[in-house]
Amino acid sequence: MTFDTLGLSTGLLRAVADQGYDQPTPIQQQAIPVILQGQDLLASAQTGTGKTAGFTLPMLQRLTSSPSNGRRTPRALVLTPTRELAAQVGDSVKTYGKYLPLKTAMVYGGVKIGPQFKQLRHGVDILIATPGRLLDHLNQRTVDLSHVEILVLDECDRMLDMGFIHDIRKIMGKLPETRQTLMFSATFSKPIQQLANTLLNDPALIEVAPRNTTAERVEQVVHPVDRDRKRELLSHMIGFHNWEQVLVFTRTKHGANRLAEQLSKDGLKTAAIHGNKTQAARQKALKDFKQGRVRVLVATDVASRGIDIDQLPYVVNFDLPNVAEDYVHRIGRTGRAGNEGRAVSLISSDELHLLTKIERLLKQSISHDIVPGYEPSFSMKSRPAGNSAPPRRRSSNRRRSGGGPRPAVAGQRRAAPTLKKKAARTA
Ligand code: AMP
Repeated sequence: MTFDTLGLSTGLLRAVADQGYDQPTPIQQQAIPVILQGQDLLASAQTGTGKTAGFTLPMLQRLTSSPSNGRRTPRALVLTPTRELAAQVGDSVKTYGKYLPLKTAMVYGGVKIGPQFKQLRHGVDILIATPGRLLDHLNQRTVDLSHVEILVLDECDRMLDMGFIHDIRKIMGKLPETRQTLMFSATFSKPIQQLANTLLNDPALIEVAPRNTTAERVEQVVHPVDRDRKRELLSHMIGFHNWEQVLVFTRTKHGANRLAEQLSKDGLKTAAIHGNKTQAARQKALKDFKQGRVRVLVATDVASRGIDIDQLPYVVNFDLPNVAEDYVHRIGRTGRAGNEGRAVSLISSDELHLLTKIERLLKQSISHDIVPGYEPSFSMKSRPAGNSAPPRRRSSNRRRSGGGPRPAVAGQRRAAPTLKKKAARTA
């Protein structure tokens, strides 16, 4: 299938061609026609599946094909959980809309509000916002959402995890009742389905990967190791395998800072991003990492949302996340848009129960591999039971066999008469 068959205008097709995309990804193939028809949508699509273009392209098309009535207030609103994701979606909207006469603005916290007032005053067609800062603007009456025609809730599960539900509800109260609403979430949890039941009207349902499973193109491995040797093992692996660009996750901000300092002392160019860093510092670290000036980027879960780096080959879980779903989000940073990736988790004895939770969520076991010289003082057998299958052991440093790419994540679209039915099916 090619983009030409999806009913997009020439301006959009040109912008897509400029990006070098040959064919639409499964989420794009399924979401674009639904959105173009004006239907509401609930889509479960992981990061890296091309979901941003999946909603942005038809949104831009709908805005250009219907008249604006000369208004200067936003006609489309995209809500994202983090500043990084807002900035990234904003960049995508500008990239895909570069041949269209539409104005885009981003409003998020961590930066001065003054320039945002000015931009909103000058007129905006598409507004991309994080909930907190958008509420500030609503309270100060510097934005009017009463003419929004399309609402997109991106990474909705993360917005709920971050406690934005009340903010979202307040924002909903400022929107017209008649509008198109599109919800995207990596997972279809119960709270997501409940929110969908209240916000969506006869939505189409799209799932491009089975519920709560990791991207198929990501090879996952666990290295059991004693906690006090994790840093040493990480430095060893980066050097031994000559990893040039590696994203490392830690559970805490303090842990991220400390690890970044230690890796820098080991001679590895490292930066850290987390919630205590200013927006400017986070963006600089990300840019340095993307451009290869920084080899290792250490991130906490919240800060990592929205990181979009093409062909990021390695993700390392220095600590396992407390919330199993975060593992899915983390490893979604690699293996993006058709590239293969590798997710490596260093786990110490205190994290065995977290591994069990992750395997239960994934409904699969993750193979484990002891790195020679870093043998742990505990046994993998001591972990809590409950995973669906015992983890396989792998021989150390084994490369993946088979060579060729694995099949893309299969996509299927279903009509959803009511979401309640779906909730019952998946509960
Ligand atoms: P997303 O899941 O929206 O974060 O997109 C992940 C990455 O896929 C981004 O870097 C996009 O530029 C890229 N991408 C989106 N659509 C396509 C496509 N049809 N072909 C190739 N790459 C794509």
